[in-house]
Amino acid sequence: MLNTLRRIVQDVTSAASFQEALDIIVHEVREALGIEVCSVYLLNSARDRYLFVANEGFNADAIGTLSLGLHEGLVGLVGERAEPINLDDATAHPRFHLIPEIGEESFNSFLGVPVIHQRQVLGVLVVQQRDRRRFDESEEAFLVTLSAQLAAIIAHAQATGDIARLTDKGAGLGARDREEVMFRGVAGAPGISLGTAVVIHPAASLEAVPEKVVEDTTVELMVLDKAVNSVRNDIQRISDQFAESLPPEELALFDVYLHMLDDNALPGDIRKHIRDGQWAQGALKQVIREHVRRFEAMEDSYLRERGADVKDLGLRLLAYLQDIRAKKTHFPDDTILVGDEVTPGMLANIPADTLRGIVSVRGSVNSHVAILARALGIPAVMGAVDLPLANVDNRPLIVDGFYGEVFANPSEQFIEQYQMLANEEREFAEELEELKELPCVTKDGWRVRLWVNIGLPGDISRSLDRGAEGVGLFRTEVPFMTRDRFPSEEEQRLIYREHMEAFEPRQMTMRTLDIGGDKSLSYFPINEDNPFLGWRGIRVTLDHPEIFMVQTRAMIKANAGLQCLLRIMLPMISNITEVEEAKALVQRAYEEVVEEGVDVKQPMVGVMIEVPAAVYQSRQLAKSVDFLAVGSNDLTQYMLAVDRNNPRVASLYQETHPAVLTALREVARAAHAERKPVGICGELAGTPVGAVLLMAMGYDVLSMNATNLPKVKWVIRNIKRSDARRMLARVLKMDTAQEIQSYMHGQLIDAGLGRVVPSHHG
Ligand code: PEP
Ligand code: MG
Repeated sequence: MLNTLRRIVQDVTSAASFQEALDIIVHEVREALGIEVCSVYLLNSARDRYLFVANEGFNADAIGTLSLGLHEGLVGLVGERAEPINLDDATAHPRFHLIPEIGEESFNSFLGVPVIHQRQVLGVLVVQQRDRRRFDESEEAFLVTLSAQLAAIIAHAQATGDIARLTDKGAGLGARDREEVMFRGVAGAPGISLGTAVVIHPAASLEAVPEKVVEDTTVELMVLDKAVNSVRNDIQRISDQFAESLPPEELALFDVYLHMLDDNALPGDIRKHIRDGQWAQGALKQVIREHVRRFEAMEDSYLRERGADVKDLGLRLLAYLQDIRAKKTHFPDDTILVGDEVTPGMLANIPADTLRGIVSVRGSVNSHVAILARALGIPAVMGAVDLPLANVDNRPLIVDGFYGEVFANPSEQFIEQYQMLANEEREFAEELEELKELPCVTKDGWRVRLWVNIGLPGDISRSLDRGAEGVGLFRTEVPFMTRDRFPSEEEQRLIYREHMEAFEPRQMTMRTLDIGGDKSLSYFPINEDNPFLGWRGIRVTLDHPEIFMVQTRAMIKANAGLQCLLRIMLPMISNITEVEEAKALVQRAYEEVVEEGVDVKQPMVGVMIEVPAAVYQSRQLAKSVDFLAVGSNDLTQYMLAVDRNNPRVASLYQETHPAVLTALREVARAAHAERKPVGICGELAGTPVGAVLLMAMGYDVLSMNATNLPKVKWVIRNIKRSDARRMLARVLKMDTAQEIQSYMHGQLIDAGLGRVVPSHHG
């Protein structure tokens, strides 16, 4: 059964069109269950009708023309109940509605299973049989499993407009006007941008290559020839290199590879697909898939193994095709960077002044690329899982980073409306520039420190331009990520010194290396099943004291002769022993630097509160260090058990969840009970709602990305702390994050601060 399911899903995924995918479903389900009729009905929500889109066993003329109302017949009932309906005599059911056009009259047994994606019914899968019998449990379970697996594919078709197009064909519903298609994701970085999509693909993975139709096949043929030549040269070179050391039978393998690259072998087949209009990478994918399938079906085990060689060759060719293409990628002045998984590394390859927006199919609100986008002030939508990458390249896109929406195919009127919103945002940001030199103090005189989170090149000037009063988080892993080995003590000292001098005399909080989780170093791979619960942050550096010592020595030395107060901050602390061990190492590093004759101050040492255990021990932790700083990004993830990178659970990642807010208040109380300063450097601090509540809780320092700082300062300067405390008291009695958000938005609007509350959704 599992194999059949797998095969159907595979065949459906590799279908050339959505209609073909639907036809494969009905054909293969009918064969697998040995039944007479299988049909698919899909919901067109704009029309509130189920359209009969695929069938085997009935009158084919009705496909694409027949449709049923939302509450019509058994299909409607399956949709309403959102559960399977299995009947041995459908005709006797009160909701049975005969559709004479398809020749349904003599079919008695009926099993309908809903297709559900993210709680929404998208359609109904139906099997029918003439003889009067109930479908058995295993048949029902098979259909339920298949439907759950197909749901994502159907949701994608709905998002891309494929279902609407099927609907337009039939039932006299009339042609749809051309209108924008919206793809929903997660709000990654606020703001609105309009621009041209540039889709970039990750390094060689054949599965990830989209199929794309091109008009100019000459360029694609040229690119292919170049790639084939490069691979031939590579193989010849490797073969020559091993000529002496390998036995002839092994060397013969290289000849096999070279033969496969002969004009009439793989390249010939790829060319045929290109001439049919497919781009080179898509053609390569199709040909490799066909060849691999053929080899893998062979009886002879030697020949079966050759499938792996074809795959390998395919990857080598793909790497060159992508490389040639990447070099040719043109970034227009209004680039919206789009990718399956946009990474911080990809951002680095784009001229900064051309980047207007980011859309990533994977990732979520606190993926590091989203944090970078917020720091750069570039609107971003993460987790846009239904975005058809192949269809948007080079097309106009609108990115709404407030609501996590991406619009393709926008009409003139729509563009105008969003352009207006983008202009308003820009004007507001310009107005806020006046606040740069003013202190962050509430209307009733409460002083709050607004510091910045830094790490990216360009952060220094961005932060100083916006009036940062200190650094609350220097993500030191960034210089580690841009090298191919650990940076030396002197290399680190120079980087840290440059930052300290730039911010002098402001305080500088430097976090010790925080790798693991989703932050990896190419030269120090960590492979784990559960990376966020694994070897992360302080756990890694305590296990490698040599790395910790080099880094803390570099920090302490960099601080020599400056007024700037160095605060060393320890990430991912989950027990007191880790703190004691780390403090002992910092003390040793300090003594060693003093012994070397460098005149340095003793650094402060603090811990990040990022895991629930640290919340419950915040009083003890505060006692043993100089300061506490909450990392609310991780704290939210660990308290709510929601992966900060997973778009599927993004709606559960709630920084204003009542449990998170209660924990934040407890940490502030604990720190103050020990007379220690407490700050927060998670993204919550940079949101208007978060900043007001945290200020009310008494957080001494709110550290955020430089882009958000002026907006937060504007809000705090226009509010009384007494009012903020009243809001906090109300909020702490509320049950859900939604209730808290809508109450706080209302309060901000009433206080005349509505400009920071996104409102274009009514
Ligand atoms: C946090 O977890 O809130 C934090 C500031 O650290 P990072 O986002 O770098 O994990
Ligand atoms: Mg963290």
